[in-house]
Amino acid sequence: MDYEKIGLKVGLEIHQQLDTSEKLFCSCRPQLFKEEPEITFLRGLRPTQSELGQVDPAAYFEFQKGVKILYEANRATSCLVEMDEEPPHPLNPEAVETVLTVALMMKAKPVDEVHVMRKTVIDGSNTTGFQRTCVIALDGEIKVGEKTVPIQHAGLEEDAARKTGEESGNVTRYRIDRLGIPLIEVATAPVIKSPREAEEVALAIGGILRATGKVIRGLGTIRQDVNISISNGALMEIKGLQELDLVPLVVEYEVQRQINLIGIVEELNLAGVRQESLKEEFFDISPIFKQTKCKVISKALNVNQQVLAVRLTKFRGFLKRELMPGFRLGTEMADRARFWGRVGGIFHTDEMPAYGITTEEVDELRKTVKAQDEDAVVFVADKAENARDALRAVLERAREALKGVPAETRAPNADGTTRYMRPRPGAARMYPETDIPPIQITQDYVRRVSMRLPELPEQKLERLTKAYKLNQKLAKQILDSEYGELFETIVKESNVLPTTVAAFMTETAKALKRDGVHVENVSDNQIREIFRALGSGRVTKEAVPEIVNWLSQHENNTVEDAISKIGLKMLSNEELEKVVDSVMERNRTLIQERGENAFAPLIGMVMKEVRGKAVAASVSELVKKKLERASKE
Ligand SMILES: [Zn+2]
Repeated sequence: MDYEKIGLKVGLEIHQQLDTSEKLFCSCRPQLFKEEPEITFLRGLRPTQSELGQVDPAAYFEFQKGVKILYEANRATSCLVEMDEEPPHPLNPEAVETVLTVALMMKAKPVDEVHVMRKTVIDGSNTTGFQRTCVIALDGEIKVGEKTVPIQHAGLEEDAARKTGEESGNVTRYRIDRLGIPLIEVATAPVIKSPREAEEVALAIGGILRATGKVIRGLGTIRQDVNISISNGALMEIKGLQELDLVPLVVEYEVQRQINLIGIVEELNLAGVRQESLKEEFFDISPIFKQTKCKVISKALNVNQQVLAVRLTKFRGFLKRELMPGFRLGTEMADRARFWGRVGGIFHTDEMPAYGITTEEVDELRKTVKAQDEDAVVFVADKAENARDALRAVLERAREALKGVPAETRAPNADGTTRYMRPRPGAARMYPETDIPPIQITQDYVRRVSMRLPELPEQKLERLTKAYKLNQKLAKQILDSEYGELFETIVKESNVLPTTVAAFMTETAKALKRDGVHVENVSDNQIREIFRALGSGRVTKEAVPEIVNWLSQHENNTVEDAISKIGLKMLSNEELEKVVDSVMERNRTLIQERGENAFAPLIGMVMKEVRGKAVAASVSELVKKKLERASKE
């Protein structure tokens, strides 16, 4: 793919939770809880109006549908501020200082006065109907390889409540423990030109954030918004990407999707499809399915719901056209239907016969909606009102397919593809937060923060390669790993070889995560303790992954607990000798036949029995000694 030729432009907006002792606008602990909530309360959505009088269409739509939100809370992690029953307290200065630090590391210019603004949110993720946000500095830059990437702004935001479920009757559950945790926001200019470069820039920003030592690690603590556009396409905002590794793939797939959509416009126009031939004419085709084998449909009909259909003139074949791997134009319509109609999904004739729907039923429904051979039919089984909303959304998406790529806000799927989240919000979504006084950022304050800026990642890279004799690649991997900040501390206090510590940070931790171990449950202090134990010979290198795994499943336990519970106590010399003797005893024939050449297989057998409980070097020494003695006899 020639990304330059298609005019790819990518901008990143990175959000990461800050490790402060209090939330952004109150004194609650910035922490999540796992238990049952102590408090719940139900609220209706209200479409907040900006001062210019604009109402977000998606918010208004949800409001009309009477969507209700059930909020969950406990006392340790939320108070009346999160419940929107008490005005917010002044901005948390600790959070402001961290953002200012990052901003200065990126050579951005701090604003004189910080003004908190309200940004409309429409999904109930905030009890107030808006998110509070403020700009701390503007116009910075970072170096990524040879390239200078402009940083548009560095700001501070409150994190939103997290969704914990959907219930029937238009009720959505949100937990407000996360609401109000400070988030730093760093936005680049849209100057990134390839998927690979997007990942490099994200890594570089992540490195600077971690260098402050003031960000929270682990899944869900970092979220990136990726803005992607190509010539003749549209600006797409992909929101809330949690895994950095997915950034290049998301960009690649989005480019694919837009190119395919542009191709479809041309073909539809060539086929002579017109806006006016896509009519809002819905047919009740329920009678056709009286005896159907399709479970979804028969279940719906049993509770007096309906099957409604719409004809998409000359769309036959287009709905099954693949836009991204496993994702078709029909999928795109289904996403719209789910959002606007709150239905489970749609059926369309391009995928028929399927789901227990027979060819006869398809022929019958085509006849009922007066579909010609070249037409497609989309149908939905749900409450009549929902089905109508869903089909309206499908029709709207079909009309857009004649024009080009619709601008949307999308959400990432686990495989790197994306799905429709909501329409792009219009301009003027921000208005001033009058409950919070502006705060000054004085020259003097900026000077003081400037004087104690953390080392930049590239400076640290230089220093690590020299001081610990690491090659550039490994040193870079350490810095890019989540544990980069711990590396030096651990090496200094544990006396473990730098390469051993590095291997844990760059390989072991990743491998454990891939195997589903929640490494983020193990604290920095515990990791340091593990390495101190390794350095003092209390555990072996091989035992480290096992200890991390155990601790990740037993929170509030110590490293010592782990060592004794998994039986990782080191063998004494006598105990080790016993194992060696017994292995040699069992393999007497082997030793007689091969003499000193039995060394390798013997070592293998002994290590198998003592792995994690003895150091390989002492095993090897012991076996060698005993073997020499045995062959002399
Ligand atoms: Zn609070």
